[in-house]
Amino acid sequence: MRTASIVARQLGELGMEVHTGVGKTGVVGLLGAERPGPTVLLRFDMDALPIQEENDTDYVSTQPGVMHACGHDGHTAIGLTVAGMLAQQHERLRGALKFVFQPAEEGGCGAAAMIADGALREPRPDFAFGLHLWNERPFGWVGATEGEMLAGSCDWECVVSGDGGHAASPHQTHDPVVAAAHIVVALQTVVSRNVPPLESAVVSVTQINGGDTYNVIPGEVRLAGTLRFFRNAVCDRVKRRITQILENVASAMGCRAEATFGSGYRPVVNDADAALLVQELARRVPGVTAVADDERTAGSEDFGEFMADIPGCFFVVGSANGERGLDYPHHHPRFDFDERSLTVGATLMASVAAHHVLPD
Ligand SMILES: [Zn+2]
Ligand SMILES: [Zn+2]
Repeated sequence: MRTASIVARQLGELGMEVHTGVGKTGVVGLLGAERPGPTVLLRFDMDALPIQEENDTDYVSTQPGVMHACGHDGHTAIGLTVAGMLAQQHERLRGALKFVFQPAEEGGCGAAAMIADGALREPRPDFAFGLHLWNERPFGWVGATEGEMLAGSCDWECVVSGDGGHAASPHQTHDPVVAAAHIVVALQTVVSRNVPPLESAVVSVTQINGGDTYNVIPGEVRLAGTLRFFRNAVCDRVKRRITQILENVASAMGCRAEATFGSGYRPVVNDADAALLVQELARRVPGVTAVADDERTAGSEDFGEFMADIPGCFFVVGSANGERGLDYPHHHPRFDFDERSLTVGATLMASVAAHHVLPD
């Protein structure tokens, strides 16, 4: 909320038309709406994670149990910098820029909430771009991949219901603990036996909870996890197999189970021309020493919601610096990045925007 109000105030000071409360605490700033030409959406996420920070810097999180372990604070800083750079050129714009500052990227479906609140209307963007600082790669590296770049994700859960009873008399029960154990093992066959070898997917079980004492077989066990995919047909097949395994393995053990799937994130699929443009412009950014066209990850991002039927590109900006100990992975309590990557990210995003709305 505090971040959103700072962002809104700064965008307003740059002379933008500012909309707040878009998808709860999202902020949209519009620059050059009156100008004829294309509209380009630039998205920056703002949210933190429920992790206690273990860094010891003068800019460490002041909120107990909450830290910017994914670098979205960097994205917000980049977004405000790009907004300032382009606002200086306001008089020369041939097109509009829509700066989207998004909350709740980390599993909270913030993009969908902003879209439901009109983030893609009036004006509707013709192109969409987003970025992520990337501690998987060193400072100086930029990645923009044509086609599928980040996986889609879908959370799932199920309750395995049996008949509990005395642990000394298992024959009088239908034991959901044993059924759950068989289900976890059987789920390992979904990717290995049901996904075509040249496709990819992930099925992970991340929660298994049941029972609370030594001598009672519980009545139910709760399982939950996530799945990742790059193509919707693979997602459909994986969901079908998870459902069949849950229901039928449970049934074979005298129990019942039913899968529930969350709404999830669609894959991030980059437009070919947009990805090539980012690669080309990245090579001209000072400090960039390597531009990759083949980076893919099974991590997920809800930027794909903005690109559902708008061409665009999501790119990643190398931000690690091993020599300075700035190479902990995203979501680690000691995550931090090389701040020079902020300059690369802002310069590249500004030049992508300028390519569409500023004459040479
Ligand atoms: Zn994250
Ligand atoms: Zn992130």
